[in-house]
Amino acid sequence: MSEELLAVKGLVKHFKRVRAVDGVTFSVAVGETLAIVGESGCGKSTAGRLVLRLIEPTAGEVRFEGEDLLALGSDALRAKRRAMQIIFQDPYGSLNPRMTVGQMLEEPLLLHFLHEKNRNKRVAELLHLVGLAPEHAQRYPHEFSGGQRQRIGIARAIAVEPKLIVCDEPVSALDVSIQAQVINLLQDLQRRLGLAYIFIAHDLAVVRHIATRVAVMYLGKIVEMAGKRELFARPRHPYTRALLAAIPVPEPGAAARRILLEGDVPSAIDPPSGCHFRTRCPYAQARCAAEEPVLEDGVACHFWRDIPAPPQNAVLIRVNERLARLQAAFRN
Ligand code: SF4
Repeated sequence: MSEELLAVKGLVKHFKRVRAVDGVTFSVAVGETLAIVGESGCGKSTAGRLVLRLIEPTAGEVRFEGEDLLALGSDALRAKRRAMQIIFQDPYGSLNPRMTVGQMLEEPLLLHFLHEKNRNKRVAELLHLVGLAPEHAQRYPHEFSGGQRQRIGIARAIAVEPKLIVCDEPVSALDVSIQAQVINLLQDLQRRLGLAYIFIAHDLAVVRHIATRVAVMYLGKIVEMAGKRELFARPRHPYTRALLAAIPVPEPGAAARRILLEGDVPSAIDPPSGCHFRTRCPYAQARCAAEEPVLEDGVACHFWRDIPAPPQNAVLIRVNERLARLQAAFRN
C-alpha cells in the first residue's frame, strides 16, 4: 500500500448558517493525484483551502505526515506550509502585478531561508522547470499570456520543494490547447519531483486524464470515491452518473462548457433532509428523505445496488469524445 501523506477526517466548515463542507473524510498518498469534482458551490475549493488552513475548519482533523495540522501554532504552521502549496484558478489574480517574476519566485525562498547563497540560480532553475526562460525573471505578470502566468504560479508553488500541491481549478480559465500544456507540465513535475496533488475540477475529462482517484462532492459531502478507472467504467452514485452523462462535447474550436445538471442545487443553508441529492435524484424514495446515507464502500446512496447501470456506451462515448479532443491538444 502507498505511503499516506495526508489524512482528513470529518472535516467541517460552516460559514454562519452555510454548511460549505459538511463532514468529509479522505486521504492522499505520496505521489498520487486525488481529484475532487462537483458542481460550482459543492464545497470542493473550500475543502482544498481547509486542508492548508488558509481558512480555519469548524471541526474535523487534518493530519499531514501524521502530524495534526489543526494543533499547530502560527510558527509551526508556517514551517509546515513549505510542504503544502496551492495553485489558483486565476493565474493573474494570484500574482502581484508590481513585482517581477524573479522577485515573486524569490519571495518564498526568502520566507523559508532557502538557497540563501544563490537565489538567482534557483529562480533560473524554476523557470526552466516550468518551460520558461531565465530572462523572463525581469518581466512583470502583465507581459505574459494566461498559460505562461499559470506556469509562473506553478513555479512559485514548487519553489520551496513541497510534497503536496492543492491545484484549485488550475486550467479552467485557460483555452483548451493551453489546458493540455499545463496539465502535461503538472504531470511531468509530479513524476520528476514526486509530488502529490489534490486536483479540484469540474471538467471530468481533465480529471480522467490526470487523477489517480476521484472524490465526487455534492452540497458539502463526498457522495462517491473510487479509483479513476473504476469511477469512469462503473459510476455507482446517481449524481456521479448524472455528471458523466452531462459532459459537454464541444463543437470544434469551442471552449469547454460547464457541466450542467437538471434542476438547481439546493441551498447549503437549508439542505434537503436525508440524502442531500434527493430533490434532483430520479431514484429517490421515502427512505431517502428520512435517512442520510453514509459513505460505505465508497458510495453514499441507499439504493445504488438496485439502480440499473447506465448504458456504458453512452457514458463512455461522451467522456471519450471530450477526452479525445483534449488528447489531440496534448499531442500538439
Ligand atoms: Fe438518490 Fe436516494 Fe440514493 Fe440519494 S439515497 S442518491 S435520493 S436513491
